[in-house]
Amino acid sequence: MTITTKIPHHQFEPDHLDDLARQLFKPSGVDGVYGRTGEYESVIEALAALITRHRPAEAEIFRFAPVMSRASLEKQGYLQSFPNLVGAVCCLEGSEREIATSANKNDNGGSWTEDLVPSDLVLAPAACYPIYPIAAERGVVPDQGYVFDVAADCFRHEPSRHVDRFQTFRMREYVRIGTPEQIQAFRDSWVPRAEGIADLIGLPYTVDVANDPFFGRVGTMMASQQRADALKFELLVPVRSKESPTACMSFNYHKEHFGEVWSLHNARGEVLHTGCVAFGMDRLAVALFVIHGARVAEWPATVREALKL
Ligand code: ATP
Ligand code: ZN
Repeated sequence: MTITTKIPHHQFEPDHLDDLARQLFKPSGVDGVYGRTGEYESVIEALAALITRHRPAEAEIFRFAPVMSRASLEKQGYLQSFPNLVGAVCCLEGSEREIATSANKNDNGGSWTEDLVPSDLVLAPAACYPIYPIAAERGVVPDQGYVFDVAADCFRHEPSRHVDRFQTFRMREYVRIGTPEQIQAFRDSWVPRAEGIADLIGLPYTVDVANDPFFGRVGTMMASQQRADALKFELLVPVRSKESPTACMSFNYHKEHFGEVWSLHNARGEVLHTGCVAFGMDRLAVALFVIHGARVAEWPATVREALKL
């Protein structure tokens, strides 16, 4: 989705998809975080299996925790680009007495949160971030580069009542590390492959150039540069409306950003480029329910067959 079409977080107007949301999710008391029904989860699992069936043969698989190293996130510049989206893990520290005093503050008219201390962890905002230091740790990257299959539960501080914008959501990615030509070829091949997946599961879509929601005034310039250089594409599905379709997959070319941060290089000493194709698992699942209906049993047979549901 583009910066210009993004819905401001304060516009929590009732949504025409509220009824569907009530069938799929149970409220947690916090917008964008839900208990999910078994039927919904069966679709998430079926989607994951379908994406696995499209996995590049050479891909190495990693699954990451919903938290990641704070130092790593700081090192890669996330705080310059998206400080508004980050969530950090904070804990109570100190002696038993100090911790008890903090924990009891709520009963005494205060709040235990006053004493929270930042830990070494942040909530993972994307599934691919932990893979770059892992790849760099191995030393010189072989000429064929790397392909990884990664996934994680992600967090972004973007509370919304809309059924297609969560604070916590599942992300699956195929990540490529290599020369600029290898990354371009990877991304170019994944757009039609991803369209093929959307066709199989009966989702209407458009593919368009996009930008990340970079923060602040400098961010606006970074976003227009990203669009001008066509570094990001999204597969958009009309989930809430045709006018503002929802990004369900994205195709990203990071150029040398992660290569420079983590010193990813080949035998000739060239800094390598990276790219990824990201599948928003929860957005794809919601899109399926919006397009095909609240009951999986009533979905078109071809879609259920493709998903083995
Ligand atoms: P948007 O422009 O809609 O905020 P994005 O450009 O920030 O999305 P990416 O950073 O490319 O998204 O993340 C990869 C994928 O993760 C997206 O294509 C989308 O499917 C999914 N995703 C991103 N943010 C959310 C969210 N808040 N809730 C659910 N899924 C999300
Ligand atoms: Zn990625």
